[in-house]
Order: sequence, then structure tokens, then C-alpha cells
Amino acid sequence: MHTPASIAVVSARGAQRWDAGHPWIFRSDVIQRPAAEPGTVQVRDPRGRPLGQALWSPASEISLRLLDRDPGAELDGEWWHSRLAAAIGRRASLAGQASAYRLVHGEGDGLPSLVVDRYDRWLVVQLMSAGLEAARAPIVDALRALTGCEGILARNDAAVRTREGLPRETALLHGAVPQEVEVEEHGVRYLAAPWTGQKTGAFLDQRENRALVGRVARGRALDCFSYHGSFALHLARGADDVLALDVSAHALERAHANAARNGYANLRTREANAFDFLREEERAGARYDTIVLDPPAFAKTRAALPGALRGYKDVNLRAMRLLGPGGLLFTASCSYHLTKPLFLEMLEAAAADSGRRVALRELRGQPLDHPELLTVPETGYIKGALLEAMD
Ligand code: SAH
Repeated sequence: MHTPASIAVVSARGAQRWDAGHPWIFRSDVIQRPAAEPGTVQVRDPRGRPLGQALWSPASEISLRLLDRDPGAELDGEWWHSRLAAAIGRRASLAGQASAYRLVHGEGDGLPSLVVDRYDRWLVVQLMSAGLEAARAPIVDALRALTGCEGILARNDAAVRTREGLPRETALLHGAVPQEVEVEEHGVRYLAAPWTGQKTGAFLDQRENRALVGRVARGRALDCFSYHGSFALHLARGADDVLALDVSAHALERAHANAARNGYANLRTREANAFDFLREEERAGARYDTIVLDPPAFAKTRAALPGALRGYKDVNLRAMRLLGPGGLLFTASCSYHLTKPLFLEMLEAAAADSGRRVALRELRGQPLDHPELLTVPETGYIKGALLEAMD
């Protein structure tokens, strides 16, 4: 079944990564490269012992991604069906809470380089390795059978595709997918934009944190990096009035439309740079009862971390100063390079400089539909904290 062309031999160090629970083997640890096209290959150690089967990406630095430790497993349509069914089954409890959430979180679900997001009756997928791209047909077939979806869109426009030697494109893989899909999330409705929105059409990774904010919001509220108003909509349920702020006027148009869709008359939008706005509000002595900070990733690379830390600290310290007595701040970071300890350290430093007594009420991490594996740090990136001003 496995011709020599479809066998990869990896170094002891490569084999060790699998033993330690990480599915990636890098180019430098592949002693004998398969002569095969991208797809699935069998992996062996230097003594010829079969280690399992993996996705093979000849152009990538990440050459092999473990699929199955069983060297004899048949990686056919049935195999993809059962692996996808397990991932989808893990989310069964979410169906009653929201109509948009992640069905497959890549390595976190044992399906490396695959993302599948559900937006009501439609799916958006991302195939982010050459090896996985070769399995596109069985993946699409299984997703159709498992979900009965009306359409599947591939948002294969992510930059990582270039490193895999793959084209960047947005393509329809099945049925039809509308430009806009109305979805529901803990009693709030919003429009997702599968073809053109950020990521696969919305930020699904903050869903549970938005629900938390909806439960505690009160008084005068501010959402600083609002995008389509996703946090602001939840704030509007408990707060008297909400200001949704973003640098992008286009994003705010959508936030405004989302507020109207829910009948929230207490949500206003403002086009501004959050850094400037927070500084001006501080100078003006403004006070807020609930603030949300969910900025874009300031640290896109490890080298950018020191500058990013200054940015995070700046917005957090100013937001702390703007809190009224007993005021709440929900603050988050989606920078992978900003680790959990660094995130907490940054908040401690911001609190020290703010002159306020700030309590940590809750630390938050990845939501249920974005499983973070302890042995695969790359599966986790969301950190969040709910803070309270004690005086
Ligand atoms: N909270 C959102 C996601 C935020 S994405 C959600 O849960 O869906 C980050 C947003 O920050 C983007 O909309 C981007 O336009 C905005 N942004 C980036 N830099 C900014 C700045 N300096 N001031 C205000 N908004 C900014």
C-alpha cells in the first residue's frame, strides 16, 4: 500500500515531537523526503519503524502534520467522516446558544491546518496546508453529510497558504453562500460577512466573552475596538448607553446596522483611534461603568512584542483610569506571542501605574469551540480578564 515514494523518514528529534504530543515535523527533521505529491504519507523513524501517517507539504517549513498514529489506518472518506464527526460532536452543546461557531479548530481537533466555521446553514472552511488541500474532496463530502449545509465557502485567502505553495483565493466549494448571513449569539443577532469579513466572516473566538460581558454590563459603556459591534451589542442589553468605537468607518456602519437589527436605540458609534480617544477622555475626566478592550493582535511577530506590550499597557492603564467606582473592564489579547504570564504581567503593571485599586474577577481563555491543546501552544492565542475598579 505504501510505496517507497510515499514514505517519509524522520530524525529522532522529529519522532520526539510526536511523542511529546505535537503534530508538526519540520523540514530539517525529515531525513528522507517522499517523492510524492502533497497528500498523505507514511512516516518512519531512522530504523524503519512506522510512526504513523501525516499530511505532506513539500514546499513548507512544516513538512509533516500528524493525522493518525496507526500506520495501517486507511485514510479514506470514512476516516475523514469520523474525525470530523468527533469534532462536530464536541460542539453539540453550543447549538442552543448560538448559530455561528467553530466546528473544527485545526490541530486542536486532530485535524491539522483545517478550520471549519458554521454560520447558520452555511459553512466557511480554510484549508491551510498543501497536504490538506489534497483531501479537499473527502472533507467537503463529509461536511455535507454531517451538517446538511446549503453551501460551503473556502476562505483560502490567508497568507500562510503562500508558504505552502498554494494560491490565495476565495472559492465556493458547494451550493451557494450569501454575502451576508444573519446569525444569533446568546440572544443577540448580527450579520456575518463570509466572503469579505475578517477571518471567516466574524470573530467567533470571543463569543463566550461577549456573553460574559452581556451578563455584567451596566451604566455608561464603551467598546473600544468594536469592529461590527459584536461586544457593543451585548453591552447594549445591560448598559444604559453604549459607545462603539473603531478606526474603520465601514466596520461602524455594520455595527450601526446590527444595533438597528436588534432594536437597540442606546448604541452610538464613533470613528476614532482608541489610543487618542482614551487619552482625551482621561484628560476630560470622563467616567464609564463598563469598558471593553478587544484590540487587534499588536504583536504579529515575536520581534514586535516589546512595542506591542507598550501599546497594550497604554490602552489598559487609560481604561482603568476611566472606570467609575465599581466599574468593570473586560480586556483581551489575541496576540499569540503575548503569553498568558506576559498578559497578566502587563495588566499588573497597568494597574500599578493607573493609581487605581483594580481587582481580577475572572481570567478567561479559549472558548469551547477553539480547543487549546496543552502540548500544542499554537492552538491557543486568546487571553481575557474581567477587572473591577475597587474604589
Ligand atoms: N471586538 C471585535 C473584534 C475586534 S477586531 C469582535 O469581537 O468581533 C479589531 C478592530 O480594531 C478592527 O475593527 C479594527 O478596525 C479596529 N482597530 C484597529 N486599530 C484601532 C485603533 N487604533 N483604534 C480603534 N480601532 C482600531
